[in-house]
Amino acid sequence: MVKAIVGANWGDEGKGKVTDLLAEHSDVVIRFQGGANAGHTIINNYGRFALHILPSGIFYSHITNIIGNGVALDIVKLVTELQSIIDQGVPAPNLIISERAQILMPYHVLQDAYEEERLGGKAFGSTKSGIAPFYSDKYAKTGIQVCDLYDEARLRERLERAVDVKNILFEHLYHKPKLDVEQLYQQLLEYRELIRPYVGDAVGFVHQAIREGKTILMEGQLGSMKDPDLGIFPMTTSSHTLAGFGCVGAAVPPTAVEDVICVTKAYSSSVGSASEPFVSELTGQAGDELRRRGGDKGEFGATTGRPRRVGWFDAVATRYGCMVQGATQVALTCLDVLGYLDEIPVCVGYEIDGVVTDRFPTTPSLMRAKPVFHTLPGWKCDVRGITDYDALPAQAKAYVEFLEQQIGVPITIVSTGPERHENCMRTR
Ligand code: GDP
Repeated sequence: MVKAIVGANWGDEGKGKVTDLLAEHSDVVIRFQGGANAGHTIINNYGRFALHILPSGIFYSHITNIIGNGVALDIVKLVTELQSIIDQGVPAPNLIISERAQILMPYHVLQDAYEEERLGGKAFGSTKSGIAPFYSDKYAKTGIQVCDLYDEARLRERLERAVDVKNILFEHLYHKPKLDVEQLYQQLLEYRELIRPYVGDAVGFVHQAIREGKTILMEGQLGSMKDPDLGIFPMTTSSHTLAGFGCVGAAVPPTAVEDVICVTKAYSSSVGSASEPFVSELTGQAGDELRRRGGDKGEFGATTGRPRRVGWFDAVATRYGCMVQGATQVALTCLDVLGYLDEIPVCVGYEIDGVVTDRFPTTPSLMRAKPVFHTLPGWKCDVRGITDYDALPAQAKAYVEFLEQQIGVPITIVSTGPERHENCMRTR
C-alpha cells in the first residue's frame, strides 16, 4: 500500500512532521523529486533536525529510506547531512540511493548563481542550489546518472559532453571562468566512493516491497503551487511536486497509490520572492506577529533562513492544490499558532477585474486577484499539544470544519504542535 504525503500550497506546510509521524507504521519512505533546495523540520527524541535531502524516515531503524530516481542528488550535501544526523546520535539509517538518480553537479550550482546574477532585478529568487540547471540538463539528456559513476570510460565521455556545452555558456553568456574536465572527473570519482555503500536498484526494491504488501510513503517536497505544470508558473520549482509524479520519481505503479495525504497549514506561508502573487498575504505588524509566532521557531526557511511571507488561509488555492494532488485526506498543521487572534479571516474567493471567483486562475489573472475574506471568531487560548479533537475549543473546531468544507476533502489530522505526537486524529 502506497501513500503519498505532499504539500497543498507553496511548501513548508509541515510535510516533514507528518511523514515522521506516519513513518512510525511504515516500512519504506521515498523522496521522489526535488533536491536539497528545501527543508523539512522534524522534532523528535533525538532533537530538532532540518532535513534537506534525506527522506524523513531516517529516524527509524525499521525503515528503508530511498532517494528515488526523480531526485536531484547533491552528493556532498547528502553525505554531510547523513554524517550530521549520525553525530547527533541517530543510528546509521538504511538508505538506498537509486542507481538511476542523476547527480547535481558543481556546475549546476554555478550556473544557477550566474543566471540569477545575469537576471539581476528580474531574478526568480532561486535558492541557487542548481535545481533548474540540473533538471534542464536531465531533459536535455546531458545529465549524469549515479550508475555512470561505475563505468569510467562512459563517465568521462558523458562529462566531456556536458562540460563542452557548459563552457560555451560560461565563457560567452556569463563571462565566467571555464570548467576543468579533469578536476570534475576526479571529484566524481571521490563522490563515487562516498555513496558506494548506498547505491542500489531502488526500482526493483520498491516493486518487491509492493508485492510483499509493505507500507510505503512517498514524501513530496514543496507543494502544488510550485509544480511547473499546475502551479504558479514560472514562480515554480523545476521538478513536479505532485503525488502523480511519484509514479515516475519513485517508480511506483499508479495503481498502487491508495492514499494521498495533502498537508496544509492553518494559515499561509510562502518563502518565494516579493514579486510572486500571494493573494491572502498579511503584511505590516500583523504579518510580523504571525511570522514570529508561526511554525516551531517563526516562519523562516529551513534551508535558506529567509523570512517567509505569511498570510491567512487561502481556501481557493488550497482547494485547487488538494484537487491537483488528488488528495484523499488532509493534514492541517500549526492550528496552535492561531490561538492569539480575536478573529481569523479566511480567503474564500478572489476578485479579479471586479468579478469574484472561487476558481484558482492561471498566473496572469492571479497577479490581479484580490482576496475576499470570510472572518471566523478566534479561540483565544493555547491548544498546543492537545491530542483529543473534542477537547479543542468550539471555535477551533468550527475553524477546522469550515476549512474542511471549503477544501472539500476530510481533514483527518489536526496538528497542534511541531512535535511528533502533538496531533488530533479524526476519523474519516
Ligand atoms: P515541510 O517542508 O513541509 O516539512 O515544512 P517545514 O519543516 O519547512 O516547515 C514547517 C514548520 O512548521 C516547521 O518549523 C515545523 O516544525 C513546524 N510545524 C509543523 N507542524 C506544526 C504544528 O502543528 N504547530 C507548530 N507550531 N509548528 C508546526
